[in-house]
Amino acid sequence: ACSDSKTANSDANPLYLDATASVEDRVEDLMSRMTLEEKIYQMCQYVGLEHMKQAEAKISPEELEKNDALGFYPGVRSDSVGRLAEAGKIGSFLHVVTAEEANYLQSLAQKSRLKIPLLIGIDAIHGNGLVSGSTIYPSPISQAATFADDLILEGSRQTALEMRANGMHWSFTPNIDVLRDPRWGRTGETFGEDPFLVGNMGVATIKGLQTDDFTGNDKVIACAKHLIAGSQSVNGLNASPTDVSKRTLFEVFLPPYRRAVQEADLYSIMAAHNEVAGMPGHMDKFMMTELMRERWGFDGFYVSDWNDISRIALWHNVAKDFKQSIEFSVNAGMDMNMHGILFDTLLTELVNEGRVEEQRVDEACRKILEAKFKLGLFENPFVEVEKAKDFNFNKAHQENALEQSRRSIVLQKNKNNTLPLSENGNGKTIFITGPNANNQTTLGDWVSPQPEENIVTMLEGITELGETNGYKINYFDSGDRSKEITQENIEKAKQQARSADMIVLVLGENSFRHDWKRKTTGENIDRATLKLSGNQMKLADKMFELNKPVIVVYVSGSPIAEPWLEQRAAAVVNTWESGAFAGQATAEILFGKVNPSGKLPLTIPRSVGQLQMIYNHKPTAFIHKYNTEKKKPLHPFGFGLSYSKFEFSEPRASKIQFNDKEDAITISVDVTNTSDVDGEEVVQLYIRDNISSYTRPVKELKGYKRVAIKAEETKTVDIAVTAESLAMYDKDFNFVVEPGDFTIMTGNSSADSSLKTTTISVAELITLDKA
Ligand code: BGC
Repeated sequence: ACSDSKTANSDANPLYLDATASVEDRVEDLMSRMTLEEKIYQMCQYVGLEHMKQAEAKISPEELEKNDALGFYPGVRSDSVGRLAEAGKIGSFLHVVTAEEANYLQSLAQKSRLKIPLLIGIDAIHGNGLVSGSTIYPSPISQAATFADDLILEGSRQTALEMRANGMHWSFTPNIDVLRDPRWGRTGETFGEDPFLVGNMGVATIKGLQTDDFTGNDKVIACAKHLIAGSQSVNGLNASPTDVSKRTLFEVFLPPYRRAVQEADLYSIMAAHNEVAGMPGHMDKFMMTELMRERWGFDGFYVSDWNDISRIALWHNVAKDFKQSIEFSVNAGMDMNMHGILFDTLLTELVNEGRVEEQRVDEACRKILEAKFKLGLFENPFVEVEKAKDFNFNKAHQENALEQSRRSIVLQKNKNNTLPLSENGNGKTIFITGPNANNQTTLGDWVSPQPEENIVTMLEGITELGETNGYKINYFDSGDRSKEITQENIEKAKQQARSADMIVLVLGENSFRHDWKRKTTGENIDRATLKLSGNQMKLADKMFELNKPVIVVYVSGSPIAEPWLEQRAAAVVNTWESGAFAGQATAEILFGKVNPSGKLPLTIPRSVGQLQMIYNHKPTAFIHKYNTEKKKPLHPFGFGLSYSKFEFSEPRASKIQFNDKEDAITISVDVTNTSDVDGEEVVQLYIRDNISSYTRPVKELKGYKRVAIKAEETKTVDIAVTAESLAMYDKDFNFVVEPGDFTIMTGNSSADSSLKTTTISVAELITLDKA
């Protein structure tokens, strides 16, 4: 199978280099010229040179030697990557962080026999953040808090532009893990706890990044991750086992994937580190092949997560060595190995030994080549370095990032209308302190340090607008959360705050990737408590002793469960990880230039002991009480205050009876802004299946609309209820709508107290999909 005879087919003007031929013909022509090994090389991905050098600098030669033998991190040395690329032994790179490096690597690939360009992937999670100088949009959790799908789609479209300008073609986003345990350090990377919202945000992200038509060189391919359910591990730790039922998989975790595939033509999927019920994600044939591909029509390719094929043996102990791990993984449907040597040699052996069919390699290679052709990389794998500068952080992108921030910030408390602060400061003093007040923690995870002039820190934003409005700003650097917020610093802060009229405390967590020593959350940094880390509460306590209004500003991708703090604060503004313009958007909200309208995309529990605390829980979840804790959350999903006051009418259904698959009922609700401030509100629609053959959640979000409503104005908002909104999985896992009544709830949060209801009715069983 690996004879060189195929090379004899080559001619001077091969079809695969003819840009006018169809992608299909070009792929087939190229594949007919490739040896088995060459096809397998397309399945090999390596980390970029710069990143590899940085990693090597941190590791001893002995350790490097040991890792090489095992075929995992770093698995290869930076000085040999170049040779591998020149020999055509690398199909893809990840984490190439400059346009220059992308061009250099492509030039190496151009020296190979078939000159197959490289597919360059990167974690462009909220902007192309690993590249310094990019637009840093708010983290996915912030994006979800906007409930503004179009805004997110547009931001992703811009991210694709920045990526392509820098020579990157593939984003490892969206993360459509449905968050069920906020201890998970990656909470900020998710779109929160609701499958419908996660699905919408995922689809919007994919549609922004990719398209059917890549000819403009302005699109990339998306990668949904991580298949599946790592967001509900048994202990909240990353990569540890998940033990959920098939029903929970289908009801909670899989719907966003199905929609990503069927509504957005998703191009690639990344498998998850974790096992589900004993099956490691990287060898789950049912998930990868039978369900996604064969039943739901996924037509792209799979990439492994970081070294996770080798971990089938190394961590999960269900294969005896790396070779057997590759056998299991590729046979289950895996198409590309993320980083490391030996994959190619061992897979070649497996095919030659008949343990993996060559056809499986063909399928993988075909899909990867197809992406490269569609992306136009054979025509031009290089980018103009100078042009990248026109795209990175350009004005339109900045505006979208700022709009996302403005709409994502959630006002959680506003005692006696503390906010907005008066537009006329009259020389009053605002004292600002806290570990997240004046640094890049606002950027969140998957971001390299950014040029300071591109970033508006909290202090900068509040100072600028505060001073314009006639306030004096007095800042004290408290130091970082733990060791640096010393007793001495806390006392100094108190002294300095004495003369102030009010205090702005910028607290929260830190997932800023390059701040390893100070990170308190993020990938592989999970939380055993949801309380503020380090000495932050000690600092807060001292501030409260002064009996002045304390405005708490949270910067954190994960929820903070501090009921006592919230009770004492005059106002609580949850800014999540708001990106480059966090400080500006926050200041605009504090001073009333922007009316807050973000809504919580997850429930904020009162304590870690309440977990699993989600709004869409089953009916019996909170029948009983805790002896030491309330059973209500600190704040419910969908909640967020405004400076306006909105009143909702009862929902009206366009008709009562729901008839068949194609049917839809329009639910209308009148929303009146009874205040004298213009505002935006997110109208939410939840359903409840009143009696069902299997238990259903007490409520499920099935529609929402963000509307701008002027002071004293009323707007009617229509939201459609479709068969899909009402469907569930029956005992055989057919997707059906069962006959009976459904309660429809509308309002501006998931809390019962803010919802009004009506009932619709389904006369006969409707089957959407057979199992
Ligand atoms: C993460 C992925 C990410 C990959 C590459 C892994 O550790 O789980 O989400 O895409 O690294 O950076």
